[in-house]
Amino acid sequence: MASETTDCDVIIVGGGMVGLATALSLASQDYRVHLLEAGEPQQVKTDTHPSFDDRTLVVNPASQLFWEKLGVWSELAPHSTVVNSVHVSQNGRFGAVRFNHDAMHVPHLAHVIEARVLGRLLWEKVYRHKHIQLTAPAKLTHFTADEKSIQVHYQQDAQQKNQRALLLLAADGARSFVREQLNLPTITKNYHRTAIIANVATELSHHQCAYERLTASGPMALLPFHDRLGLVWTLPQEQAKQMLDTDDATFMDALQHAMGHRLGRITRVGQRSSYPLYRITVPQQYKSRVLLIGNAAHTVSPVSAQGLNLGVRGIQRLMAALSDARKQNHDIGSDLVLEAYQQQSWPDQQRILQYTDDLMTWFKLDVPVINGLRGLGMLAVDSSLLLKKQFYRLAGGF
Ligand SMILES: Cc1cc2nc3c(=O)[nH]c(=O)nc-3n(C[C@H](O)[C@H](O)[C@H](O)COP(=O)(O)OP(=O)(O)OC[C@H]3O[C@@H](n4cnc5c(N)ncnc54)[C@H](O)[C@@H]3O)c2cc1C
Repeated sequence: MASETTDCDVIIVGGGMVGLATALSLASQDYRVHLLEAGEPQQVKTDTHPSFDDRTLVVNPASQLFWEKLGVWSELAPHSTVVNSVHVSQNGRFGAVRFNHDAMHVPHLAHVIEARVLGRLLWEKVYRHKHIQLTAPAKLTHFTADEKSIQVHYQQDAQQKNQRALLLLAADGARSFVREQLNLPTITKNYHRTAIIANVATELSHHQCAYERLTASGPMALLPFHDRLGLVWTLPQEQAKQMLDTDDATFMDALQHAMGHRLGRITRVGQRSSYPLYRITVPQQYKSRVLLIGNAAHTVSPVSAQGLNLGVRGIQRLMAALSDARKQNHDIGSDLVLEAYQQQSWPDQQRILQYTDDLMTWFKLDVPVINGLRGLGMLAVDSSLLLKKQFYRLAGGF
């Protein structure tokens, strides 16, 4: 489908989960795709690729359908853990909200997977795909667009190469080089907090329940994964540094204090890693035949477990916009098509950015009256199936 003047239809920069999944989606619709990834293929094979680390990811039901359609779910499911209930509580305060799949009349609330397993699966599928050209390691250096196409320059094996396409998709992550080159205004909110990630084993079984604990220092998530839990613990930067540097016994004591005894004693903790927490909003996400997708277009704190789920919905909307363009014989890199995509995506992005921000900031104020109101609010939500269903629709990606 490439026009006479282009070598391919779409060039994607960034082979993280969003870039890879977009390449597969486009190829399934017969677009000719070229994916450029800066990392070494060897990093994927040896589980050292920074985008595919051992973080646990919540896959909501809408994303599960997407991965099924893409043909990766059957291989992913055996490595996943089903989430049947969610328990939201406050540290040291009354009130809790419980979500249960039975009460919501759904087979399950979500699944938990490991980023490295999904990353490897996607990479292998892209690598083997006849209609996707995968170049790695390759670094995009610059690009120039005209009325008919975009010329993309990249470096591979110390050689400068270039290729022409109709559309350039920037899936190059939160610190997007492409976004910077385009000078697209970016609003960054720094939470001055750090998320500590680790695997945790506890005395009692998680019974496929995910825990969200709201503490004065920030939210904490515990995701059931096989016989352990994936921890995301938000702390002020200085405290996080201490918790990263301390020995396992001191870390486990502090964690036990913050998460309470619902799961009994913490018996083991795995390697700790950390992520700075910030939110990135990009009001204008396209320019001159380039469109930002995934974390390059929107970055949220991992505490809400929504970043990739939102990225997946973006891919689906992009595919719909391109399909409409194709039917109407429109140029897929035109402002008309990219604006239609952005109009469709913006409200969803705003909802998730706001929801995550609320989670990050609501519980910052440790004032008795506010804590009491929060407790009452939780009790109110807990007793309302309607409110819970509304919440489930948001978190479930519907
Ligand atoms: C601890 C943690 C837990 C999370 N939990 C969840 C969860 O439960 N559920 C959920 O939905 N989301 C979750 N997320 C968010 C999710 O991981 C991200 O939204 C998702 O991985 C973003 O993928 P991406 O492909 O957009 O970006 P990235 O993974 O950052 O990929 C960008 C890629 O671009 C490449 N690149 C960059 N510059 C160039 C260049 N110039 N040329 C070529 N290549 C380039 C990089 O090498 C990289 O591979 C979590 C995130 C974290 C940190």
